Amino acid sequence: MPFRALGLDPRILQAVQEQGYTEPTPIQSAAIPKILAGQDLIGIAQTGTGKTAAFTLPILTKLAAIIGNGQQRGTKALVIAPTRELAVQIEENVRAYARHLPLRVATVFGGVGERPQIDALRAGTHMIIACPGRLLDLMDRRCGDFSGLNFLVLDEADRMLDMGFLPSIRQVIKSIPRQRQTLLFSATLSKEIELLTHEFQQAPKLVQIGRRSNPAETVTQWVYEIPKHLKPSLLIHLLRDPTMNMVLVFSRMKHSADRIARRLDQEGIRTATLHSNRSQNQRLKALKDFKSGDVRVLVATDIAARGIDVDGISHVVNYDFPMQVEDYVHRIGRTGRAHAVGDAISFVTSEDHDELRALERFIGRGIVRKKAEGFDYTQSAPPSEGDSDRRRQPRHQGGAVHHKAGNSSKPKSAPQRGGRHFKPR
Ligand code: AMP
Repeated sequence: MPFRALGLDPRILQAVQEQGYTEPTPIQSAAIPKILAGQDLIGIAQTGTGKTAAFTLPILTKLAAIIGNGQQRGTKALVIAPTRELAVQIEENVRAYARHLPLRVATVFGGVGERPQIDALRAGTHMIIACPGRLLDLMDRRCGDFSGLNFLVLDEADRMLDMGFLPSIRQVIKSIPRQRQTLLFSATLSKEIELLTHEFQQAPKLVQIGRRSNPAETVTQWVYEIPKHLKPSLLIHLLRDPTMNMVLVFSRMKHSADRIARRLDQEGIRTATLHSNRSQNQRLKALKDFKSGDVRVLVATDIAARGIDVDGISHVVNYDFPMQVEDYVHRIGRTGRAHAVGDAISFVTSEDHDELRALERFIGRGIVRKKAEGFDYTQSAPPSEGDSDRRRQPRHQGGAVHHKAGNSSKPKSAPQRGGRHFKPR
């Protein structure tokens, strides 16, 4: 079905065409007519399926009719997203799709000065993309006019639950009209999400794309079994391959993300980091440099990287194996987005085998094991390359690494968020 058959505003169709989209993705074909018909919607879709446009394009079409020549004031559409990066990204998409409309858009999130956000709210911005905490704070202080709100979107609802945003979201929803259209997007349809839809939606239609929680089909997945101390050298070795030109590396902990980045920089590999210890401006700059190709590698932790949409990521590297299947799905969904293809590489140490097996059971297939050609698996660790808890471990001499039972690489303090864990179920 072509875009023009979906009933979108012609100015939005023009913008979509200028983005180079030739046809709607499956979630767009399924969701857009339902949203245009005024229905509440639950969208279950992997990242990279085009879900942002799936809700933005029909909302903009309806907003275009409501705001007329743009003189209309008051916020008509509110999108709530879990992270600042995702909010900024949605805003970028909205601006691109709304470029031929007289629409005012703003983002609202913490970690940056609130004055411009307050001004935008007071100016009667038509569409707000917000993270729950700052939004609630500003609403409590009576900034903005939400009394005429028509559309509410909860994006990445599963992650917002995991991050403990439900009380804030409830508060926000108390202050907006009951009569509205509510769209909820999530990677998975858990019991908790179903409860949420009963609470916030009216007779929602379900649109589910692809098998539940299954990694995007366009991503080729590999596993490298590797002693833990060789992870840094293996990463450097793999990065000699010039086809790894835009690489997103996932580390479990913030400090190990910094350590990996320092190591790559020492090797002359331009690298940026994205995690919650970095300031908002540093995070935005890291993303910008990665998108523009100024840095080749971005090392990120899960929460910071959630939902980031960068075109053309060639490889995702799970430097640390993820703790939850959802994280694996989200991580590898960073590559192979929309109609592109990509590779996802996981480093698996002897301590990750249970998790790997649980993941393979979950996705219903085995992941191919690979050996890095020309890589010396017998080398010992260089002194500066410690992993996160290496200082607490005996130093390994030679190639063999013996992991004692209970000497887990998993940080004891790592957050155990809700959701499905790899641990034996
Ligand atoms: P999302 O799942 O919303 O994060 O979108 C993933 C990527 O797909 C983004 O880079 C979009 O710009 C892109 N995209 C969205 N819709 C289409 C489409 N119909 N054709 C090609 N690319 C698209």
